[in-house]
Amino acid sequence: MTTLRLGPGDLAQAAAILRRGGLVAFPTETVYGLGADATDARAVAGVFAAKGRPADNPLIVHLADAAALGEVAEGGSPLAALWPGPLTLVLRRRPRGVCDLATAGLATVAVRVPDHALARALIAAAGCPVAAPSANRSGRPSPTTAAAVLEDLDGAIDAVLDGGPTDVGVESTVVDATEDPPRVLRLGGLPLEALRRLAPDIAVGGDARRSPGTRYRHYAPRAPVVLAPGEAVAGLLAADPRAAALVTDETAARLPAGRGGVARLGPLADAAAHARRLFEALRSLDRGQPSVIVAEILPEAGLDRAVMDRLRRAAQ
Ligand code: AMP
Ligand code: MG
Repeated sequence: MTTLRLGPGDLAQAAAILRRGGLVAFPTETVYGLGADATDARAVAGVFAAKGRPADNPLIVHLADAAALGEVAEGGSPLAALWPGPLTLVLRRRPRGVCDLATAGLATVAVRVPDHALARALIAAAGCPVAAPSANRSGRPSPTTAAAVLEDLDGAIDAVLDGGPTDVGVESTVVDATEDPPRVLRLGGLPLEALRRLAPDIAVGGDARRSPGTRYRHYAPRAPVVLAPGEAVAGLLAADPRAAALVTDETAARLPAGRGGVARLGPLADAAAHARRLFEALRSLDRGQPSVIVAEILPEAGLDRAVMDRLRRAAQ
């Protein structure tokens, strides 16, 4: 199929494609999602096929408004006060709210209201809950631009709605709100510190069975990734001229001037910049076909926790 390139002015056309069971990639504040009508099993099957995603890895269902939550889930969570935003809540599923395939047959459903005007307008115009995993081939870095979506999925999806580069740059934080206290299943765009202000006793990690997606190798460029402290990067690059590096500005300043294959994540103190730039930096380094990508180890705080989670999985 030919993948249509659409812009914000083509919103009605994009919504019509979703309504008739087609696949539309669209921007959210986190990364680009690959959208399908979550109530349509045939459309959702198309998402798994286009991504090459294992069928036991459920999708996040996107709503235009928290008021629609009752259509897909039973009960709620005080954490829904953080919507719209980069937070996905796993809740008990409402029978027949979305198709079984979208939840991989689980008794729960993952739901989010994105903080992106174009995304919410698209979902509202489609008039259905929209299942949307990241719009990349399974295992690859998530796309933060329409061009990155097309790099993986051109010809495999009906359309991409180009809304420019995404702001947050890493996927949503996933929280299981079916237990008390709630539990973080995946670190992401909403920092742990912000969750703790609302839920001081929130648990983190622990049970990979409940977040099927965390079992798989993820976020990986074609080149192998190794992690190294900032002060070790120069030595590793000197030892291998074909090695590339993903580093903070401070570490980049200590590398030989003019050394190619270096992508900058921004100043060490700017974790939001690291998250925003991470996936595009991995994709751009990969285009140079390096022998290895040496990624700088970042402090485990704020959004850097999510960045380090992605880098560790890429290095797995
Ligand atoms: P992605 O859509 O690629 O950002 O991945 C969605 C993440 O949410 C994956 O890690 C899934 O395993 C997780 N997820 C989706 N639905 C559920 C659910 N019902 N229970 C637990 N985790 C879920
Ligand atoms: Mg994904």
